[in-house]
Amino acid sequence: MHCDFFQFPRQEHCPGCLQSLQERSLGGTGVIYSVTTVRVRPPLGLPQPYAVAYVDLDDVPLRVFGLIDPDQCESVCIGDRVVLKVLPLGLNQQQQSCLRPCFHRLTNQE
Ligand SMILES: [Zn+2]
Repeated sequence: MHCDFFQFPRQEHCPGCLQSLQERSLGGTGVIYSVTTVRVRPPLGLPQPYAVAYVDLDDVPLRVFGLIDPDQCESVCIGDRVVLKVLPLGLNQQQQSCLRPCFHRLTNQE
């Protein structure tokens, strides 16, 4: 590893040192840094409203952007612990139901 820079989505070269990147797992858990609920007409057949968040990952120093589990879009808060899941969510380019990653708030039981 040339430097400790992490990025997502994956790119070919490190913007810091321009070396090729190594692929590694970023983990699937983190803490919500910021979240908002979007109430305008959604793209991609997403439910209305839907929520998006910036999540600070636990395993690497990286903040990523993603969808929130639609069942929790009215109740998630900054500081909540989340885990990445894959759920049937919205439509693909053929207007068929498809799977998408989203962050799901963890409770004490999970
Ligand atoms: Zn680098």
